[in-house]
This record gives sequence, structure tokens and C-alpha cells, in this order.
Amino acid sequence: MIPISKPFIGAAEKQAVMDVLDSGMLVQGPRTERLEGEFARTTGAKHAIALSNGTAALHIALLAHGIGPGDEVITSPFTFIASVNSILFCGATPVFVDIEPDTFNIDPSLVEDAITSRTKAIMPVHLYGNPCELDAFNAIAARHNLVVIEDAAQAIGATLCGRPIGSFNTSCFSLYATKNIMCGEGGMITTNDDDIARQCRLLRSHGMERRYYHEVLGYNFRMSDLHAAIALVQMERLETLTAQRRANAAYFNENITSVLTPQVRNGHGHVYHQYTVRVTDGKSRDAAVKQLNEAGIGTGIFYPLPAHCQKHIVERGLGNVHMPVAELMATQVLSLPVHPLLHTTDLEKIAYEVNRL
Ligand SMILES: *Cc1c(COP(=O)(O)O)cnc(C)c1O
Repeated sequence: MIPISKPFIGAAEKQAVMDVLDSGMLVQGPRTERLEGEFARTTGAKHAIALSNGTAALHIALLAHGIGPGDEVITSPFTFIASVNSILFCGATPVFVDIEPDTFNIDPSLVEDAITSRTKAIMPVHLYGNPCELDAFNAIAARHNLVVIEDAAQAIGATLCGRPIGSFNTSCFSLYATKNIMCGEGGMITTNDDDIARQCRLLRSHGMERRYYHEVLGYNFRMSDLHAAIALVQMERLETLTAQRRANAAYFNENITSVLTPQVRNGHGHVYHQYTVRVTDGKSRDAAVKQLNEAGIGTGIFYPLPAHCQKHIVERGLGNVHMPVAELMATQVLSLPVHPLLHTTDLEKIAYEVNRL
């Protein structure tokens, strides 16, 4: 079976873990700090703050921007549930805005209709690693005095007109095992704002700047140096791993003809966290999954149920909205393996089997 994802773990990652174990200092320390420096440099952001996972990054970023009960945050219904849950963790209300069928990202032209006097933030998601129309979101935010907090969990290395995602607004990344670079579990916030960075650091570790003096109600969302050591090695691989994903995607774009392949707009530096096609023309997506799996090709459905249809969202009374594009895409999307460990024969087999659908 060709897996839908597979982490790249080399000798350097293994050695890095052994070095931390030998040092006897496992918790957040010098390696985490170095990782933050590398992350800030790579994304072009002024600050980077490492966290235990990407969900914690989103949660802390919202809190640092003062999002709380009574506030509304606009986000996508077509995302991993962490985007939405992080808003709920703050006591705020997620407000869904439907997506564009070609990019799967929030449709900027629908955002202003969703803004109310309670709206405080927009959380766009760079789904599958395809950067969304940030210029449009930033302009809307400026007009309405909102903040933009990006869910960039799938978008490390992505760019807009050459400028890295992470350098525009406060942005949240994930280093979960399946992401483009990873350390098992990990997260990162980038920001250009000194005060936000300080708040994030406080909230990450029990509100402490001075040991055992607690300024705010904080959490334990620290990253361990064991994780940071792996992520540091992965940072060095980012460019080659991204190039390999793009090359794999380019092969599929050229050779897959039976289904709709991903659309990428000019200036959008997609990093193909997922290579997601749409099964349309009356063909059954679920039959396609079965056929590919039987042929030895792993597949993913990201995501089978939009956020506004999830049980806990409906129970909160937030499901009574119509998101026709997200609802349709949930029935059509199919992600194919695109990770850097695919061989040429894998690529050929995947394209061949997809074209038989
Ligand atoms: C992975 C992911 C997250 C959460 O990251 P974790 O590290 O798993 O907590 C949030 N949003 C999106 C879109 C993701 O893909």
C-alpha cells in the first residue's frame, strides 16, 4: 500500500533525539529557542513562539489578541476542526463563511456580509498548503478594524508573490507527524508584534516570565527540546521536501486527466500538504476511494463533514447555516499521496489508477 502520508525521518533526526537524551535536558530549552529563531528566519516574521501543538498555537494566538466571550471570529467551514475549536476554547463564537470551489479557501467576497458589531477577527485557513487571498482578507480587516489570525498549519514554506506565509499576520503552524515538516506533535506562532509575542510566551507557560510569579492565567503548552531537536533537522530539509512535493504535484497535474486537479492562482506558492482532486461528473467519490485502496493506493478525505455539520457545533446552535460550496466539496474531494518519499514508480501507478476511475 502506498500510504497517503509518511514522515521523512533520517539519521540526523535520530541522532538529534539521542543528543537531547544524552544531555539530560529534555524540557523546553536551548533547542526550542534555536528552533524559534530558525522558524522566524524562514517565515520572515519578527517572532516565533514554539508550542506543544498547532491547536495550542491557534488557541494562544486568539487569546493573545484578546479574543474572548461575546466575540465572533470568522473562519472556514471546510477545515480541520482545530480551527473552530480554538475559537470555542476562548469562549468566542465561530462564524462560518463559505469557500471558493477552485481553492477550497474562504471566499473573500462573502466575508463582509458576515461581519457584525461583535466580529473581532478573521481566521483564514491555507487549506492543503495553498495560500488564500490574504490581500483581500487584510484589506477587509483594515476597513473593519479586525485582526487576521492565519491558520497556516498546512502551509509552512508557502508564499504569496514570493513573500512567505507567516510574515503577514499572526500565523499558526503545526508540526504534527503528517505535516510537511514535523516532530510528532508541535506547533508554532509567528508574529511581527512584540506585545503579542510576549503574551503568547506568557500564556504558553503558566503566565510566568519570572519563575513562580504568575501574571496571567496561563497554560502548559510548552514544546519539549526532544521535539524541537527533530523539528530543527526538519527545518533544514524544508526546501528539498517542499520541492519534492511540488515536483510530485507537477507530475500529477500533467498526467491525471480523469478528475479535476488542483487550481493554483498566479503568485500563490502552493506547498501541497495535500494533493486534492475533485471527483465530479456523476462519478462516486466513495467508489473511487474503494477502487484506489484496492489497487494499493492510500487516500484521504479532508474533510468528509464540514465544521458547521459536526455534532458539537450543531449542539451549540451554530449549525443552522447553509454553506453550499463546502457541503458539495465534502462529497467530492479526494487526496492522493504526494509526500516526498514517493518513488517514480509510485507516481506512475497513482496517475494510472486514477485515470482508470
Ligand atoms: C493540523 C491542523 C491543525 C492543528 O494542528 P495540531 O498540531 O494537530 O494540533 C489546525 N488546523 C489545520 C488546518 C490543520 O491541518
